[in-house]
Amino acid sequence: MGQRSLHQASVDQFQRAADLIEISDTYRNILSHPKNEIIVNFPVWVGSGELKIFTGYRIQHSNVLGPFKGGLRFHPDVDLDEVKALAAWMTFKTALVGIPFGGAKGGVTIDPREYSKDDMRKIVRKFTHALGSNIGPNHDIPAPDVGTNSQTMDWIMDTYANITSPGQRQSVKGVVTGKSIECGGSSGREEATGRGVLYSLRHWLGETGGRLDELSVSIQGFGNVGSHFARLAVEAGCKIVAVADHTATLINEDGIDIEKLRDWTAQNPGIIGFGGATEADTEELFSLPVDVFVPAALENQITKERAEKMSCRLVIEAANGPTTPEGEKVLAEKGIEIAPDILANAGGVIVSYFEWLQNKSSRAWSAEDIDRRFKDLVWKAHDNVVDVRKNLDCSRRDAAYVVALRRLTSVYERRGIFP
Ligand code: NAD
Repeated sequence: MGQRSLHQASVDQFQRAADLIEISDTYRNILSHPKNEIIVNFPVWVGSGELKIFTGYRIQHSNVLGPFKGGLRFHPDVDLDEVKALAAWMTFKTALVGIPFGGAKGGVTIDPREYSKDDMRKIVRKFTHALGSNIGPNHDIPAPDVGTNSQTMDWIMDTYANITSPGQRQSVKGVVTGKSIECGGSSGREEATGRGVLYSLRHWLGETGGRLDELSVSIQGFGNVGSHFARLAVEAGCKIVAVADHTATLINEDGIDIEKLRDWTAQNPGIIGFGGATEADTEELFSLPVDVFVPAALENQITKERAEKMSCRLVIEAANGPTTPEGEKVLAEKGIEIAPDILANAGGVIVSYFEWLQNKSSRAWSAEDIDRRFKDLVWKAHDNVVDVRKNLDCSRRDAAYVVALRRLTSVYERRGIFP
């Protein structure tokens, strides 16, 4: 038998919450399947002189609450099953935080580190062209995820504008979010996911007591989400004692200098070689005694075996799907709480929503304005989860799905199912 399906794991997650509030099979069946599965194979001449065929995906899970919305991942492990799971999680995330978007995800099976910037520009443009009218500012709006960034989004926006009729070109900036500020991006989008993760931590402290400046934290992943979270957490007083990425695991029990590590990774391919900490074995990241563990890399990282070694009080799922079902069971038995991904990492899609609104009205909101609206939505979502959790006596993950499912099913009930 092959590897367990990530998509099936995502279906099992929402089914558990659906059991708690007795959601009918009709909605369970709909939500167990993505609405559209788009796969494109596209050829690109790369710098080596070779013609390479790449495979790209766009999975549109649900648009019952609004246009499809979700990131694009460029990674060698991208496949249909992974993107289906990631797309479903987006539907529940946007429903949970109450923004008028559905859920989608996409990606290309590629290691971007193996290609030059010129090659990547061609690959991104060709992928956008291949997707064609399957994306659009009122239909399906991609954003950055693992292996993509604001530069990727700028290229997609430009390519999409160029395949749009001239009279419409100025109105399609919102085809992607997470663009650079110069190209119509929003203040605060770059760090939004990391900021949202910190809000999850603050909210948990509000419930359980304790102070940020008393906490030690380990982080797996030092890309967009992990590095911004680390910077903001240090500003708030936390001590980051371990950081891992695909190149190394670094430990410094006196606290890693995150600003220096960010400077290092801006110049180097990863955290390996950074002088301000000791290099350790990958598995030590999980056994190190800390208050909070933040997975901010890929899915399926907290396995049963790793969970057995962990001794933190809280896991904040900055990554999507970082905890396996077996890992989650062990954490629960040990009394380790989980701030679930669809809640903890929703900051990115919230500021993406603000970017989309700003693009629609050709306006730029101030950083203060964005901060206020951001906090409002994030805090409300956390409060809702805590309320449901108390009422139903369930996990935070189940409570988050209950909030999302209630929103989704009430819309289905009013709209009905066509025809
Ligand atoms: P990124 O590409 O910027 O960074 C990924 C990081 O993970 C890198 O530091 C990489 O070295 C590390 N990594 C990869 N494989 C690893 C391994 N085996 N062990 C340890 N580290 C490893 O990606 P990102 O945008 O920061 O996304 C990270 C996670 O957060 C993903 O699960 C993504 O879906 C989720 N997420 C991202 C956003 C966003 O706005 N970018 C929003 C919501 C959720």
